[in-house]
Amino acid sequence: MAQVYYDKDANLELIKGRRVAVLGYGSQGHAHAQNLRDSGVSVVIGLHETSRSRAKAQADGFEVLSVREAVASADVVMFLMPDHVQADVFRNEVAPFLKKDAALAFAHGFCIHYGQVLPPADRDVFMVAPKGPGHLVRRMFADGKGVPCLIAVYQNASGQAREIGLAYASAIGGGRAGVIETTFAEETETDLFGEQAVLCGGVTELIKAGFDTLVDAGYQPEIAYFECLNELKLIVDMIYEGGFSWMRYSVSDTAKYGDLVAGRKVVDEYTREAMEELLKRVQDGSFAQDWIAENLCGRPRMRAWMRAEKNHPIEAVGKSLRTMMPWMEAKEAPEN
Ligand code: NDP
Ligand code: MG
Ligand code: MG
Repeated sequence: MAQVYYDKDANLELIKGRRVAVLGYGSQGHAHAQNLRDSGVSVVIGLHETSRSRAKAQADGFEVLSVREAVASADVVMFLMPDHVQADVFRNEVAPFLKKDAALAFAHGFCIHYGQVLPPADRDVFMVAPKGPGHLVRRMFADGKGVPCLIAVYQNASGQAREIGLAYASAIGGGRAGVIETTFAEETETDLFGEQAVLCGGVTELIKAGFDTLVDAGYQPEIAYFECLNELKLIVDMIYEGGFSWMRYSVSDTAKYGDLVAGRKVVDEYTREAMEELLKRVQDGSFAQDWIAENLCGRPRMRAWMRAEKNHPIEAVGKSLRTMMPWMEAKEAPEN
């Protein structure tokens, strides 16, 4: 069973006594910074010169410095910028300006686990990763609650890395919900596998395959959209709140019988083998290498795939059907 820590296990003084540089003021950055400040921690925001987030952080009352200046003044440096810029920022803006004994902190393990950021051996390196988006991390904290966090220690130079990390997790509200111990390897590999096999990759392909099958057989795309995409939310909400058994308790007996007969024919041995293959590529670093190379050459394959996905008929049908749903604030992704 996982080791879980709570506020009672944390010593807040360990983080109150340190100045934290929050690098990035996006989804996670604004939430960490505001929760830390409300917990009595001294916080400075580090942003690049052209950052659009500067004005927002200033309007929220924070001292905003360049990344170098923020790093030079901090005892804990938390990386809350996009993962694919962290290696460059670390090399050019962080490493040369780190105070003696300053700790490095992350909310995701990718850069450390795959050697993109090589921290000096004499530093504490830990992770505090909330298991929810930043706005929830902030809202729960303001409500006196919290979002569960993961904690991991990669380097424990001071002998206190876990305790400092726990204090940080507690100061952003994680200790109210529970802080689960993991490792950089486990967090990174399970995160990548989950988004590829199930959450993003698996789900979108499953939806498309169901939609295409119905449309190719001559059914109307609008009806196929409702059956294969729109209703997914209702099912997922039930699974989220009460597991498979709550969902099966709530749907009709016909749906339940169909589920049990058919599901394993769609996600069969072949799919499970494909998942094992994905997991191997995550574990041996081939996926990370592929993603880093894709970034280095300007994301050509990713751009082409994104264009093709955008042109799939399900997107146009969805856009038009969502105008019929007044309860929903329909969203549209910006062009890129
Ligand atoms: P966002 O994309 O929301 O925020 C990025 C922030 O970093 C923005 O303020 C951006 O500024 C700033 N930024 C961009 N480039 C630089 C730079 N060179 N130097 C300094 N700041 C820069 O990121 P997230 O909050 O989503 O992710 C941050 C970290 O948290 C990642 O490691 C991610 O994996 C992890 N994480 C994210 C979760 C989530 O729910 N989003 C959940 C758990 C972990 P601007 O855009 O104004 O230029
Ligand atoms: Mg994830
Ligand atoms: Mg991820």
